Amino acid sequence: MPYVYRCRRCRASSPPGPRLEAEEYRQRHRDVEHGGLVPDGEAIERVAGSTPDPDGRYVSSRAIVALLVVLAVASLLSRVLGR
Ligand SMILES: [Zn+2]
Repeated sequence: MPYVYRCRRCRASSPPGPRLEAEEYRQRHRDVEHGGLVPDGEAIERVAGSTPDPDGRYVSSRAIVALLVVLAVASLLSRVLGR
């Protein structure tokens, strides 16, 4: 789940990365650009469109595999019983 650090005062943002990396960008930006002060309107934001958790996908891969197994069994049964 990628995060970006944004400083609205400078109209600057960090590249997307892990939250810890965004926090490091924030600290470095505060120190270098603002003399260690906290600029107004800065934020660490989750990148739009990313899921908060990789398991929070719309369809789980486990459900897809289970569906494929059910279809394979049904196909096999129809072949065996269809004769
Ligand atoms: Zn700034």
